[in-house]
Amino acid sequence: MSHQLPELPYNYSALEPHIDARTMEIHHSKHHNAYVSNLNNAIAGTEMENMDIATLCKNIGKFPMAVRNNGGGHFNHSLFWTSMCANGGGEPQGKLAEAIDADLGGFLKFKELFSAAGATRFGSGWAWLCVGDNNKLCVCSTPNQDNPLMDIAECKGHPILGMDVWEHAYYLHYQNRRPDYINSFFNVINWNEISLRYEAALK
Ligand code: MN
Repeated sequence: MSHQLPELPYNYSALEPHIDARTMEIHHSKHHNAYVSNLNNAIAGTEMENMDIATLCKNIGKFPMAVRNNGGGHFNHSLFWTSMCANGGGEPQGKLAEAIDADLGGFLKFKELFSAAGATRFGSGWAWLCVGDNNKLCVCSTPNQDNPLMDIAECKGHPILGMDVWEHAYYLHYQNRRPDYINSFFNVINWNEISLRYEAALK
């Protein structure tokens, strides 16, 4: 099975002024595209060709570093694009809002934890909101293109929201001001989609 670069569900300019069109275009058409090409090259002619991307992630400790980096890159970015939308932001409603209150101490506390997870990740990586095996929400971060589905991850869970804090995600517009990018990210989160993922992840 060959992996494909997914189309974005919106235009490159849809998330402005929070995330600029040029950043979105390079991020999607160059960075994500390279992860997909490199992943396909790394799995060609092996048993890994028959696995979907989530199965690859869950067994990543058995596979070469090129599959970890590029397979993680493909999974993470696919989740990232669909975590955002034009006119996003605000706060979640319903069951997800109740779970954030019960498991994380409320939306403001979640925002603080998630922002800190992104801001304190040294170098490149991701911040995550995950559903753990106990069905409880947790916030964590991973380095490089790792994610909490991976068997080698320090924090494990089913990721329902991911924020890319690699410099390529923000540097053109925000330069070294990662905290400003993180603040802006909250204005583009598609909470309807994250709520659907939350309810689907519950066991
Ligand atoms: Mn990225």
